[in-house]
Formats: sequence, C-alpha cells, structure tokens
Amino acid sequence: MQSMSAEQTTDPVAEQIRSVLDGRWADVRQRLRVDEDFPVAVPGLELGLEEHRAATLEAVRALAGTELAAGSLPVDQGGSGDLGASVTGLEMLGHGDLSVLIKAGVQFGLFGGAIANLGTQPHHEQYLRPMADLSLPGCFAMTETGHGSDVQSILTTTTHDPETDELVVHSPSLAARKDYIGGAARDGRLAAVFTQLIVGGENHGVHCVLVPIRDDAGEAMPGVTISDCGPKMGLRGVDNGRLLFDNVRVPRANLLNKYGDIDDEGRYSSPIESVNRRFFTMLGTLVRGRITVGAGAGAAARSALTIAVRYGLARTQFTYPDGEHEVVILDYLGHQRKLLPRLARSYALALAQNALVEKMDALDSGDVTSEDAQRELEARAAGIKAITTEHATDTIQACREACGGAGYMTANRFTDLKADTDVFTTFEGDNTVLLQLAGKGMLTNHAADFNELDTRGAILFGARQVTTSVIERTIGGSLIQRLISGAPGRDGDDALNDRGGQLAVFEDWESHLTETLAMRLRQAGDEDADSFAIFNAAQDHLLEAARARIDRVALEAFVAAIDAAPQGPGRDLLEQVCDLFVFSTVEANRAWFLEHGRLSSSQSKGVIAKVNDLCGELRPHAATLVGAFGIPDAWLTTEMMSDLAEF
Ligand SMILES: Cc1cc2nc3c(=O)[nH]c(=O)nc-3n(C[C@H](O)[C@H](O)[C@H](O)COP(=O)(O)OP(=O)(O)OC[C@H]3O[C@@H](n4cnc5c(N)ncnc54)[C@H](O)[C@@H]3O)c2cc1C
Repeated sequence: MQSMSAEQTTDPVAEQIRSVLDGRWADVRQRLRVDEDFPVAVPGLELGLEEHRAATLEAVRALAGTELAAGSLPVDQGGSGDLGASVTGLEMLGHGDLSVLIKAGVQFGLFGGAIANLGTQPHHEQYLRPMADLSLPGCFAMTETGHGSDVQSILTTTTHDPETDELVVHSPSLAARKDYIGGAARDGRLAAVFTQLIVGGENHGVHCVLVPIRDDAGEAMPGVTISDCGPKMGLRGVDNGRLLFDNVRVPRANLLNKYGDIDDEGRYSSPIESVNRRFFTMLGTLVRGRITVGAGAGAAARSALTIAVRYGLARTQFTYPDGEHEVVILDYLGHQRKLLPRLARSYALALAQNALVEKMDALDSGDVTSEDAQRELEARAAGIKAITTEHATDTIQACREACGGAGYMTANRFTDLKADTDVFTTFEGDNTVLLQLAGKGMLTNHAADFNELDTRGAILFGARQVTTSVIERTIGGSLIQRLISGAPGRDGDDALNDRGGQLAVFEDWESHLTETLAMRLRQAGDEDADSFAIFNAAQDHLLEAARARIDRVALEAFVAAIDAAPQGPGRDLLEQVCDLFVFSTVEANRAWFLEHGRLSSSQSKGVIAKVNDLCGELRPHAATLVGAFGIPDAWLTTEMMSDLAEF
C-alpha cells in the first residue's frame, strides 16, 4: 500500500477541505489514492512510441477489474452501473499519464457508452462484458477528415442490402475517412462507426454501426484500410489512426438500434420521427465522454498547481533589504497572482464538475428522467468541458513559468502535462463549438422541442422567445435564492462584499448578456434577413454569454458546497477562496462591468486591490490549499523538489 504524504495526513484543515472537494464519490477517490495497483504512473517520455502504446494498453487492462470498468457496465451485465464512480475514477487517472486516461475513456466511456446508450439488449449482452474486461478493445469512429465539429455532415454511408439483409459500410471519398480515431492504429478490434444510414434508398441520418476492423491475429479485416496518425504533440500512448471502408458488409444486427431500426422486411423505423431531433438525442446520450475529458483536465490543472505552489514555497530568489534572507518566491505578489487566482478557479470548477457528475449519474440511474433535464445536462457539460479545458491549458502554462527553468525540464512534469492536455480543448467537441451548445441551452431554456432544429436554428428561434432571461439555477436553487434576497445591496462594493450580492452580480452579468444577445438575434426573423450573417455577427456575444453562464454555475456550485461543509477553519478558508474566485473573475472581466455601468472606475480599482489583498491573505494557506487536492506525493514526484530538499 502506498502511503499518503505526511502533510496530507497531518494537516487537519486540508483534510476538512479535501472532504468537500472529494464530493459524493469520496470513497472511490480515497480507495484509488492508496491502491498501489492504480495505474497513475508518470508517463515514460523516454519510451519509444510503440513501447508507450503497449504500456498504455497494459495500464488500461489493469483497470478491467476495477470500479472504473464496473461502473461502465450495467448491473444486469455484472457491473455496478455506478457511472459516477466510473467517471470519478477516470478523473483520478488525470493525475498520472493522461494517455491512460484517454485510452480508458475511449474504451469504457466512448466505445462502451455508444453500445450502452445507442444499442439494445442483444448488443449489451454480446459486447458490454468483453468491452469492460478489455477482451474486446474498441474504437469510437465519429470524426472524418472532412468533418469534425459538424458531425451531421459526415460522409460515410451504411446502406441496407435487402437481398442479403446486410449493411454495407462505405467511405465514398478521402473526406469520409475516419480520422484521429483512438485505438484504430494498433489495438482496436471493433469500431462503433458513425455513418449516414440509407434504407430503401432513403437517408435516415447519422446512426452508429459496429464494424470489426481487425481479426484475432490483429490483421485488418477485408475491405478495411487502417493507417496510423503517427507522432502527435502529446498523448503518445494513444494509438490514433484512420479507417477507410470499401463496401464492408456486416450483419443487420450490427446496427445500434435504440433510436433507429430496420425490420425483417427491410423497413426503417424510429421512435423519433424528426431526423434532427433523433440526431441530437443520440449525440446527447454520449455526454459522458465529454464530462470525463473536463474532469481529467481539471485533475491535470490541480497537479500542476500543486507542483508549482510547493515549488513556490521552497524556492527563494533575491534577498530582502536586510541582505541576509532570500525571498521565498511565493511571497512576491506577482507570483501569488500567477498561482492563487488560478487555484481559486480550480476549486470552483472542481465543485461544478462534481455537481455535473452527480446530475449525470441521477439521469443515468433513472432518478431523474425529464427530457429537459437531459438537455440541461448536455448544455452544462458542454460549457464546463470548454471552460475547464481552457483553464487547464492556461494554468499549466502559468505553472510551468512559475517554476522557471526547472519547469521546462521533463523530469518536472510540465512537458507531459502541457503536451497531453493541449488537445483536450479540441476533442470531445471543440471548445468554441461547445460554448455555442451551452448558449443554445440558455436561449431555448433546454426545451426538448428545440432538438428539431440545428444549433444555429435553435439559437435564432430561441432568441425570439427571450425577452427577459430566466436564470436557471441548477445547483443549490433555494439556498442561492435566499442569499440573493438577503443581500444588502446590488451595486458595486456593497454587492461584491456579500455572498448573495456576488451571486446577484454574476446573475445580472449573465442575464444582460443573454437578453442583449437575444435582441440582436431577433432581427434574423425579419423577412429577407440574412440569418447566417446576423448570427455570425453576434457569435462573439454568444460565446461571452456562455462563459458568463459557466462562471455563474461554478459560483453556485462553490456556494452550495460551502453551505454543506461543517463549520470550522476549513470552511472559513473555503469562503476566502470563493471570494478570490469572485473578485478575480470580475477583475478579468472588468471591461464589461465598467462599460455596462456595473462598476465605477474607483470600484473597479477596488476590485484589483481586493484580489491583491486576498492573495496576501491566502498565501500562508497555500500549502494547505493544494494539500486539500489530496494528490498523493508519489503521483507528483519531481526532480526539482528533490533538488531543493538537498540545498
Ligand atoms: C488526439 C486526438 C484524438 C481524437 N480521438 C477521436 C476519437 O477517438 N474518435 C473520434 O471520433 N474523434 C476523435 N478526435 C477528433 C476530434 O473529436 C475532432 O478533432 C474535433 O471534433 C474537432 O474537429 P476538427 O478537427 O475537424 O476541427 P474543426 O471542426 O475543423 O475545427 C477547426 C477550427 O474551426 C473552428 N470552428 C468550427 N466550427 C465552427 C463554428 N461553427 N463556429 C466557430 N468556429 C468554428 C473551431 O473552433 C476550430 O478552431 C480526436 C482528435 C485528436 C486530435
């Protein structure tokens, strides 16, 4: 058994905070922290590509018997069906070699998720167990060389042949080639291929078909051309590849037929008539992959912050005027500003992520069933994934710089953290495209009816409905309302110095952006209006509105988590971290608050001063605040910290 660090076991305040951050699946996190078989090893960057890929596959195989795999398997298939435990376990992998997280995510989350959510009982019985025990390594083949974000326009076709009752999967051009597919280059045997389904000469839109791509000997199946994407910026352990299909025949039963089926007479039917609505419903069920990517990015950012803060507490540079003592670099305000506001944001996003996983689990287990709730989950997942992965990229870079030249050395982890997380902003949905999905939810209030329309159509139509935006509180609803009602003031200093006032400021920010966006977009309904031009001219506005929403959601998650925490020094510290999240967020957006008369120029300067004050107040607690992330020391070993210990 691996032991927790002395600091983690002897700092009771860190322990109090950790129990808040750990959330509902705290037991899973705690078990994995002490499980010496849990494959969170630092990536071996000296390994060759093939060795790294082989090691990654073995690490994922080692997960086959764990709750990560069991959670992805329904109870009737011998699993636990505890999706929250599975996603939380995957998040913990984000502290180690991110290739393992991504390969596991592709297998259990994407490949397994497609079969579980788009398939029916016979598919579950045939494929889910071998998926979970890794005897059937799979791929999730959605993206094509010609179409990534616009999945609805993919070109691969699957045509039902009534003569043989088979499905013929075909790539009509190079643009239809499946690209960047995890597992395709080396290990995958069966691919969940997204394709246009043509039955009786009619295209019924995007569906998913299971296509064997390799035989037991690892050779490509007849008609399947496989190639390797080769070296990448990061994630060297993941074997991304390309797939081309030349009229590959598979049985009709290989169609994942929950949302669209072909009967014995060769007739197509679907419980959802509208092609658009069917498409968005099918894609929505795959939300767990996106949630896992956000979770992993958050974990990687917390690893980076822990390393950088500990280095900042041990490293000295320049002397005080007394000429005797060297200054600990975290005593410099500039250094505090580099790390502590990002630390506060990491807290807020981690708590928002926890709330998201809880909601996903409730929907998956049937505790919550409404279709609007599913739409809300999808929009929130899209927004949180975008903001958390962006935050991780920014934070890891800042942490690298905070460690100076040492940060550039591969032995100090930032090489892999930077390179591996970089693409998190792109896969499982490009961030710019995902923020538009989040924006769609804001304007349509997640009504399921809007799934009839594509994203742009829904946003334009939704804009016509919005006159005054209704803030949808998804976390801690009555608590948030109570705090806002009890706030002493709604302007400037008064508001920002009170939790309810802060919540009201964030709500007002989001509402104003949403309402003014709706006003601009409403013109698209005019006769002869060029709806694309109007939509496009407001796209920056839409993206800002979505960002404001996610910051508001993160603040609500933070406030709700503090409210649920026991009284004590841990909770007091959380209050200060929450303040730093609020003030540093307002500071970063103070152009908007000034332009819109929400802050006077002196109040705006006051916000800057408050961020400085909070950085100073939190500086003595920095070790506690990163200790509360609960990342075992063994997962964070760096050469630079060992060197400093020798000085
Ligand atoms: C390492 C890696 C692993 C991957 N693994 C898989 C996998 O296993 N399975 C799979 O199916 N796919 C996988 N992908 C593909 C990934 O999901 C796509 O790359 C992603 O969806 C983006 O698509 P794209 O690359 O075509 O970019 P594009 O969609 O072409 O985007 C390019 C740029 O255009 C911008 N843009 C696009 N549309 C809009 C718009 N409407 N408004 C404003 N800006 C826009 C984007 O913001 C982006 O900056 C992987 C990719 C990588 C790099």
